[in-house]
Amino acid sequence: MKKTGIINRIIAFSNVDGPGNRTAVFFQGCNLHCLFCHNPETIHRCVGCGMCVGKCPKGALESAGTVAGEVTEGAGAEPVPPVLWDPSRCVDCDTCIKTCPHLASPKVQYMTAEALRDKIRRTAPYINGVSFSGGECTQQRDFLVEVIPLIRELGLGVLLDSNGTYEFEQDPELLAMCDGVMLDIKAADPDFCRLLTGAGPELPFHNLDFLQRAGKLEEVRTVLFPHHPEQNEATVRAAASCLRPDIRYKLLRYRPFGVRQEGLDFLGGDITPESESARLAEIARSLGAENIVPV
Ligand code: SF4
Ligand code: SF4
Repeated sequence: MKKTGIINRIIAFSNVDGPGNRTAVFFQGCNLHCLFCHNPETIHRCVGCGMCVGKCPKGALESAGTVAGEVTEGAGAEPVPPVLWDPSRCVDCDTCIKTCPHLASPKVQYMTAEALRDKIRRTAPYINGVSFSGGECTQQRDFLVEVIPLIRELGLGVLLDSNGTYEFEQDPELLAMCDGVMLDIKAADPDFCRLLTGAGPELPFHNLDFLQRAGKLEEVRTVLFPHHPEQNEATVRAAASCLRPDIRYKLLRYRPFGVRQEGLDFLGGDITPESESARLAEIARSLGAENIVPV
């Protein structure tokens, strides 16, 4: 059966989602719940509770009458969204997202691989490649396996943006299709990592090592927090000490925009100062990393 991608957003031209000018496709749904997530409405899929429907000032939402908590299969092969969203009426006020108690969004597109390919075809002459992000794109692995070959037929390369918790070593088919993975290393300390993300650091670090050996590690990213210098340092030390010198290592300063209250309570509302990323870049360099990009 054909898969349908559940897509939160497509940015036709992005210069921050991988090298060059790329189309970035953000999938809905993630297996982590990072406290510093800028787009927490991408974490869960809509469960059809209907709470946002009556709040929309433009009547752009309608309950589909499907069973709450499920994305049901229709008579054909296509899943039916629990809430129907009419983009032609939507004014992007985000009242629905602010209303949703489930870290979800009704503003998602259900697309076949062919429909997504056709959308990207229009911008293909002007981009260097496509990045699949999220949410966590590997949560929709079977859709990726359908759509990536179609994207490659357009002559475009494909990168995956991952939170690091996918078992890439167990999926040579997916890995062979893409040019590389942009990998998050969120924390090295197991307790801090679980608190921050809901999962431990073991699999992301295993992936760092495996993807590097497989020649599929495009870049590594770590977010630096303003009030946790010891944790920042532990993470950067652990990542930089096993990174090949040429691999790009992005050190991203925490910015609280879009972060939910729970995250602000834990991490604070300050932006990480540039002095902190300079300090950690120096530490990473001392451990052999040469391609450091502070952002
Ligand atoms: S963002 Fe769009 S769908 Fe959501 S409440 Fe506003 S107008 Fe309605
Ligand atoms: S987007 Fe959220 S509030 Fe709206 S129906 Fe889905 S789960 Fe309920």
